[in-house]
Amino acid sequence: HYELHANVLESGASNRQLLLVFRDRTEEEKADEAKNEFVSIVSHELRTPLSSIMGFMEILLHREVAKEKQRKYLETVYKESQRLSHLIGDFLDLQRMESGKQTYHLTPIAVEPWLRELVEGWKGQWPHRIELRLETDAPYVVGDADRLTQVMHNLISNAMKYSPGQDRIVVRVRTEGERCVIDVTDFGLGIPEEAKPKLFTKFYRVDNSDRRQIGGTGLGLSVVKEIVEAHEGAMSFDSELGAGSTFTVSLPLYEVPSVEGRVVVVEDD
Ligand code: ADP
Repeated sequence: HYELHANVLESGASNRQLLLVFRDRTEEEKADEAKNEFVSIVSHELRTPLSSIMGFMEILLHREVAKEKQRKYLETVYKESQRLSHLIGDFLDLQRMESGKQTYHLTPIAVEPWLRELVEGWKGQWPHRIELRLETDAPYVVGDADRLTQVMHNLISNAMKYSPGQDRIVVRVRTEGERCVIDVTDFGLGIPEEAKPKLFTKFYRVDNSDRRQIGGTGLGLSVVKEIVEAHEGAMSFDSELGAGSTFTVSLPLYEVPSVEGRVVVVEDD
């Protein structure tokens, strides 16, 4: 879409000059659209948990409620508050990353214990069981452990969310040259072809009927991409509708320092 501005520069009897300016508004319109979508998503995503919190609190404050029902209501209130907190957290994280204000505390991370602990933390929360396949001799990656945990958390929670009725997620780790490659595979809904190019776009959500009931903000994968790229890593995915998806993170391996050509292994007691 173009905008046309016309200005008369000179308009004497013998001399007429007109300045025509074309301005490409496509980008601005896209930005406006994204902003409107953002406002509608955020208000919906903020309102839904908030009305549920307020509703249950009102009941608890003003009515006699049996002990076990009280507990159930409080659990809902707690869950919904957590959801709100995640949304706000993701949103602020993304703002900070995009404005270049995020600082990363880089350290060597031993991949095996890191992933084992992470996978352990998911136990019991979902019907899914996470199968950890280590196809490498426990390499180290360089990164910010909290942020990389956030990456894995988002990928695993997507794998679970978008594979209802399934009970298996596979996390596979291997090395490819100078990189550590981590796959998160589910056997769930998969991603429609037309959605693939837009998947990492902020606030983008697939709008198929098979997943309209699944909550989310469309920020999870944007956060993942920002973090992985800040680590000089790369993100990719492969998916077939109705069969499942694999999201792949590749990160630079940490070179264990060597002294005079010998590898120094530091062992814990
Ligand atoms: P959210 O899950 O909050 O909608 P994300 O940015 O994490 O946002 O994901 C964007 C979209 O990509 C989702 O709406 C979902 O439809 C699709 N998606 C992400 N991960 C998967 C997956 N493992 N399987 C199927 N679809 C997925």
